[in-house]
Amino acid sequence: MAIPLLQKARIGAYILGQQLTGRRRYPLVLMLEPLFRCNLACAGCGKIDYPAEILNQRLSVDECLAAVDECGAPVVSIAGGEPLLHKEIEAIVSGIVARRKFVYLCTNALLMQKRMGLFKPSPYFVWSVHLDGDREMHDRSVCEDGVYERAVTAIRAAKARGFRVNINCTLFNDADPERVARFFDTVRELGIDGITVSPGYAYERAPDQEHFLTRAKTKRLFRDIFRRGRNARAWSFSQSGLFLDFLAGNRDYRCTPWGNPTRNVFGWQRPCYLLGEGYAASFRELMDGTDWDAFGTGNYEKCADCMVHSGYEATAVQDAVRHPLRALTVRLRGVRTEGAMAPEIPLTSQRPAQYVFSRHVEQKVAEIRVREADSKASTPA
Ligand code: SF4
Repeated sequence: MAIPLLQKARIGAYILGQQLTGRRRYPLVLMLEPLFRCNLACAGCGKIDYPAEILNQRLSVDECLAAVDECGAPVVSIAGGEPLLHKEIEAIVSGIVARRKFVYLCTNALLMQKRMGLFKPSPYFVWSVHLDGDREMHDRSVCEDGVYERAVTAIRAAKARGFRVNINCTLFNDADPERVARFFDTVRELGIDGITVSPGYAYERAPDQEHFLTRAKTKRLFRDIFRRGRNARAWSFSQSGLFLDFLAGNRDYRCTPWGNPTRNVFGWQRPCYLLGEGYAASFRELMDGTDWDAFGTGNYEKCADCMVHSGYEATAVQDAVRHPLRALTVRLRGVRTEGAMAPEIPLTSQRPAQYVFSRHVEQKVAEIRVREADSKASTPA
């Protein structure tokens, strides 16, 4: 089972508790990025092109755990950069597990075998291994030969030691539905616990700008994939059925950017994991001080093609809690892959994109330099 009963029950109880208290906006998954440094340079990544001063920054264990406490989400996804490059990653993970939060440790798996001994199998801990398809697809996606094989070897080792292991698969516009379906068969045979799949977000700073999916192509691609796997029932997804139904064009959801709030070395990122349009000093400031209506498909040009799980999974999960029969129907019948699609959100009133990345980076670099100069000045000679 991709999501064990304990986890489903805890998340369901958390959502019901939030709704009973009348809270309109609440987080489901904290996206924790303790560093941006990575040991790969993938063509579709928009997270690692920072100057060295920023790539050298780390969130401390205390900062990570304070973010977990402040946010309160029942699930924490540790992303980056490559989290296994963080020297204190074991203390970060064990601190979160001790709080009985479910931790997904995202990794490209290059260091996974070397550092596996730091971690213990637990219902609260999942390896989330980046695999964007079969050997050829994945090695092309990460721009390095041999990464797929190393990831598969690490996955086998983790399964042999009793860990829960998911794969995290991002698809682009060159994905062939038949190959993706066969790849999902392969990971099922590997004993993977769950698949997280998503179209790639069109990061403005990713080196490869040609292969991002539009919403229309995303929906057709996912229908073509799911059709090849008994309407998605052939595989074990670590995602709600309604999110998969949305990917196949059957739901007209709006995103829930506060569902996956993001804490990184800049602070709390506005408005979501994918877009860094500003930063708040605290979680409360993020929730109360963000103009949420300024973002989302139909509201903002940079959101036009987004159907990414970190933006829409929370919408689907909340829908499933409100309409359990709807969720049950998709579960029993599978995702509909034929017939009319839900209407698309009109883009006629969206505000134009703003390009604020350089300003944030310059501010952060200046802040780091001042801090380092102060620290040198206060160190006795
Ligand atoms: S649509 Fe929503 S989740 Fe996607 S980039 Fe925009 S604000 Fe973020």
